[in-house]
Amino acid sequence: MPSLLQKPKSIFKAFLDIVLPPVCYVCGRNCSSKYGLCTLCLNRIRLCAEYSKNPYIEKAWSCSYYKDTIKECIHLFKYRGYIGLIDIFRDIMIDFVKKHDIHKNMDLIVPVPVYPTKKRERTYNHAEILARSLSKNLVIPIDVKNLKKIKWTQSQSELGREKRLKNVKDSFLVVDKGVFSGKCVLVVDDVYTTGATINECAKVLRGAKASKVFSLTLARGA
Ligand SMILES: [Zn+2]
Repeated sequence: MPSLLQKPKSIFKAFLDIVLPPVCYVCGRNCSSKYGLCTLCLNRIRLCAEYSKNPYIEKAWSCSYYKDTIKECIHLFKYRGYIGLIDIFRDIMIDFVKKHDIHKNMDLIVPVPVYPTKKRERTYNHAEILARSLSKNLVIPIDVKNLKKIKWTQSQSELGREKRLKNVKDSFLVVDKGVFSGKCVLVVDDVYTTGATINECAKVLRGAKASKVFSLTLARGA
């Protein structure tokens, strides 16, 4: 039988669960799932497959559609600081990657960078958190220093397709080209809508002689 000292955290958590029963992040119902989501909300996550249209991206994979539970969760994660949702995001991404054998060909994982002032405002880069979690679980190296965002841009979600392309044009830069040379790179972000942002990243990565650039996002927008 474990002593009190051996498992201080789980006993503390059990105590918290009695005093404050866990509720679903999305709908507020009581729930017991390890992800902090109730069964109803979990069941509303629809999984989808690969997708690509942009010239510099070999293949663009999205794990799910950007709606219902996933949409709510990404919003809570990005703008409301619900970092605990990383657990379900990680598991969805890892399951998807393994199912499609994506990890077997990748040399390097790179998150879509944010412009420095934006990172400070939100205090973290959500794409980087996703990418770090993937890198750790798949044992694929990550680089967060050599793809930089050099231009402040308006939020893509406010723009139509044509304006999105213009908005992100020439907004990324590679610092040390040697890091990507000959590598198969997986660019990670939360949402893929037109792919304009990731395509711009892929363009400079291919310019730095990356052999191929793929992308993986949690969700694909309409
Ligand atoms: Zn719920």
